[in-house]
This record gives sequence, C-alpha cells and structure tokens, in this order.
Amino acid sequence: MNKMKLEFYSKLENEAFARTSVVAFLMPLDLPMEDVMEIKTILAEAVVNAMIHGYENVQDGIILLEVSYDEHYIYIHVKDDGCGIDDIQKAMEPMYTSKEYLERSGMGMTIMQTFADEFHIHSEAGKGCDLQIKKKIRHGNQTEQ
Ligand code: ATP
Ligand code: MG
Repeated sequence: MNKMKLEFYSKLENEAFARTSVVAFLMPLDLPMEDVMEIKTILAEAVVNAMIHGYENVQDGIILLEVSYDEHYIYIHVKDDGCGIDDIQKAMEPMYTSKEYLERSGMGMTIMQTFADEFHIHSEAGKGCDLQIKKKIRHGNQTEQ
C-alpha cells in the first residue's frame, strides 16, 4: 500500500503538474504505457472539469487529489468544493455538456468511465464534486508478449 495527496489551486497550468506528479508517483508499478496514458487522461478530464465547471474558472479554488495503490488496484480521488452537479445522470450522458458555448464535447465523464474499472461520483448542487476511480493494475511485461 502506498499513498500520495496533493492540493493545488484551480489554475489551468496546474493540470500538467497534477498529471505528471501522479505519473511519477506510480513509476514503481512499471505500468504498461497504455495504462499510463489512460490514467493521464482520467486525471486531465477530472482536474479540468473541477477547474472549468466546479470552480467556473475561479483561480483559487482548492482541488484535492489523492492517489493510492495496493497489490491489485490504483485508487484515484479528485475532489473540488465548487458548484457541484444537480443531475448526475444527465452529466454522465455521452455528449452532454452544460458549456456548449465553449464548444466542449461533453465526453469527459464517458472517457473516464471507459478507462476506469470502477467509477463513482458524489455531488450535489452547491456541495462540490467528489470522484472515486479504481483502476486494476496490470504489469508492464504482460503486454509485451
Ligand atoms: P469535455 O469534457 O468533453 O470537454 P464537458 O466537460 O462539458 O466536455 P464532461 O466532462 O462529460 O463534459 O462533463 C459533463 C458535465 O458535467 C459538464 O458539462 C458539467 O456540467 C458537469 N460537471 C462535470 N464535472 C463537474 C464538476 N467537477 N463540477 C461541476 N459540474 C461538473
Ligand atoms: Mg469535461
């Protein structure tokens, strides 16, 4: 079991910081490249959602990111204290976006769900958003054959 925790401001430039920090933290697991790419994508989608939707581009909202792993799984937890989601089912629908004017595709939630082995979202209007994601660990050498 190993665990890390990061807290950072909701500034877009911190997305790369969050993503690369997690990749560095997971280095000892020697994950297949494909899984690293999927984890990076999950993090980018989750963190950007917190910034642009949760905090609506306010730059000093706090985003909490916790990542841990055991023998079998990686656990990713992304939390913001932003505006929250009043209709989670609708937010999860492929191609649903509340920001059509920003030409977002509304695929972030769908992509995260596709790459995760388990995906849970807890949110209420006005109460922030809490994402819990579980991803099974495959070892690097298993994909090389
Ligand atoms: P894309 O991710 O393709 O750029 P998107 O961000 O609009 O577009 P999703 O990531 O699937 O699409 O999110 C769907 C909707 O859920 C968003 O448009 C937004 O209304 C809501 N949402 C997602 N994350 C949050 C969050 N952290 N706080 C508040 N609302 C959120
Ligand atoms: Mg999104």
